[in-house]
Amino acid sequence: MIQFSLRCENGHDFDSWFKSTDAFEKLVSAGMLTCAVCGTSNMKKAPMAPRVTAGRRDDDAAPRDGARSRGTLATPDGPAQQALAELRRRIEAHSDDVGRDFAHQARAMHDGVTPARPIHGEASHDEARALAEDGVPVLPLPLRPRDKSN
Ligand SMILES: [Zn+2]
Repeated sequence: MIQFSLRCENGHDFDSWFKSTDAFEKLVSAGMLTCAVCGTSNMKKAPMAPRVTAGRRDDDAAPRDGARSRGTLATPDGPAQQALAELRRRIEAHSDDVGRDFAHQARAMHDGVTPARPIHGEASHDEARALAEDGVPVLPLPLRPRDKSN
């Protein structure tokens, strides 16, 4: 298992697990790896330099890089928040919320037990990793589950 930081052509960042570099390349060349924010399939590995810090403050530049470098969660209504809100709308409109049954259902579809359809839901870190290990194409979403209780 290998974890890659991915970046789409529009600068959206994701982290995801893959079985191998090979498996990753296959998903990309098959166009099966798409950006959850803008939907492009033009994804590539982000430069592997997670600990690089900027040598100077550059607050006005490159808002598209804000998601990772500027502490998304602390900035209300920034571009990242709006992108997340849009992402949530799109996901809820176009796929079924299967909640905590996600891992089970994703695997059933992958195995051909049930017809494939777009779903989203919750999976534990271990479940998500197990799915990726078995070659089930899943992507983590930068969203928290909606608070359904109270
Ligand atoms: Zn994107």
